[in-house]
Amino acid sequence: MNKIKVLDEHLSNLIAAGEVVDRPSAIVKELIENAIDGQATNISIRIKNGGMEEIAVFDDGEGMSKEDLKLAFLPHTTSKITKAYDLNHLSSLGFRGEALAAIGAVSHCEIISNQQQQSFAISNNCGVISEVKPQAGNPGTGVIVRELFYQSPARIKFLKSVEYETALISDLIQKFALSYSHISFQYYNNERLVFNSPGNSQIDELLFNIYGAGVFSRLLKMEIADYDFAISGYISNSHYSKSNKTGINIFINNRLITSNSLNKAVIEAYSDYLPKGKYPLVVLKITTDPQLTDVNVSPTKWQIRISKEKELTTLLKTGIKKTLKEKSSGQLIKDFELNEQVLPYQSHTGNLDNKADRLIYQQLQLEQSLILEDNPAVIVHQPTVIGQAFGKYIIASFQDELWLIDQHAAQERCNYEMFRRALLQKDHPQQSINLAPLELTIGHIQRLKEINEKVAAIGITFEEYGPKAVLVRSIPLWITQVDVEAFLIDLLDYCLNQDSLDIAELHKATLAALACHSSIKFNEYLDRNQQLSLVRELLNCENPYHCPHGRPTIVKLTDQQLAKEFERG
Ligand code: ADP
Ligand code: MG
Repeated sequence: MNKIKVLDEHLSNLIAAGEVVDRPSAIVKELIENAIDGQATNISIRIKNGGMEEIAVFDDGEGMSKEDLKLAFLPHTTSKITKAYDLNHLSSLGFRGEALAAIGAVSHCEIISNQQQQSFAISNNCGVISEVKPQAGNPGTGVIVRELFYQSPARIKFLKSVEYETALISDLIQKFALSYSHISFQYYNNERLVFNSPGNSQIDELLFNIYGAGVFSRLLKMEIADYDFAISGYISNSHYSKSNKTGINIFINNRLITSNSLNKAVIEAYSDYLPKGKYPLVVLKITTDPQLTDVNVSPTKWQIRISKEKELTTLLKTGIKKTLKEKSSGQLIKDFELNEQVLPYQSHTGNLDNKADRLIYQQLQLEQSLILEDNPAVIVHQPTVIGQAFGKYIIASFQDELWLIDQHAAQERCNYEMFRRALLQKDHPQQSINLAPLELTIGHIQRLKEINEKVAAIGITFEEYGPKAVLVRSIPLWITQVDVEAFLIDLLDYCLNQDSLDIAELHKATLAALACHSSIKFNEYLDRNQQLSLVRELLNCENPYHCPHGRPTIVKLTDQQLAKEFERG
């Protein structure tokens, strides 16, 4: 008996809907993408009850003809591609021709479209498609989706609270506004205008609107390019952090995407600047030849495949690190640590019509341009060291600021950079040490030769010492203030656990082990000279403002802040 049947159209649309439009925000995404593909310059979005009750997206784009409307709800109908070649040269956001069919399968959906003064409407009630009828409408297209999932109770159960679904939509719209800054977006939640972007291509103004003055003042402009990719946008400095990754916004050829490898590159680039578990805000646009990307990987198109991905992640990391190194320090001295607790994510309505806001914005813009002018001479004069408190902090003054330096964190930073420089040297003058043999298992001894070939590069040799132990008789001179035995055990452990040893990875592991066993003491009295030389050494570091774990080394109080505290200002 034959068992295989061709699925009817409604059923296959329902299946597609499961993937493409799993929640209200996915519908908003598809409708906005359609409006953008339709050359809209103004897109208005209205939602009710987290989009479950109603989603309406109106645009002023090219619209659809009566004949187009007849096809719009059918699956696999699209105006965006016609042949296989087009798939590799996409300039549109949509191309699969399934969104409208999928949306219509799970809602009451109506399209009104006006093209060249001819205006028509068509509706789709959970797969039942109406005739096309004349209906008055403004130039462009409006799609209204009501009672989403009313015939799919399982899907409704899967949705979260109205607030959660609304937040997803709000976030998405702001991201679209950032990536298509030449288009103006109006967003109404339950009839209230909650976001309004001017569409004047001013990304910095938009960032100010979306995130507020506090966050905006902590953003750095970034630009980098190689032969294949150009990356530009804004990244937060080390005084802003979030406890999740939602601030990482990456667009490839204007398409908002999620990519684990690009996210990872961003996080790694910040590893010297933010503590573990803290994430930055980045808004970065990557431009590349569409041929280097494959968008047809997932139905929702959130994921994309990138050829030369490794080159791209390296470029991204380099760009971020360089920007942080060159531009972050100027601001670092100016601010206290700022994170989400201090300055919550602020969503602002609309344009800078508020006078005060505009003033702050202009001031910040000015300051930012000064920082962006790349002023390496941030620390022209040395600070004056005043003394030490609690055996923990060095107190110094610098211009009109009072600095509190965490001496432990400062020493960690100095040692870390010293170790890093020393590790890369060719020669490693030795100092002899007197340590007990380090115990091993018999099987491990066999790998000693291979391990020694690699660790020679960092000036260490493990000598065979009987069948179950190794001995280290000398270590490089530069290894100081470290619990040597614990460090060597860690290093050996690391080497034995690797299938093959890569020298860059070995350097990293060595640095981590050194940092971990660094024997810098807490609560240690430092005399005046030691205080001075620590501060000088710290300021000569590549990144003086954070310890290797990303915690701040310097906290400053400005004269102005003090005046306020003393109620003088
Ligand atoms: P896709 O976007 O993948 O082509 P959709 O189902 O989203 O598929 O839309 C089908 C077609 O309907 C599009 O190819 C486009 O021609 C037309 N369309 C949909 N929305 C709009 C719009 N807002 N403006 C103009 N044309 C539209
Ligand atoms: Mg589409």
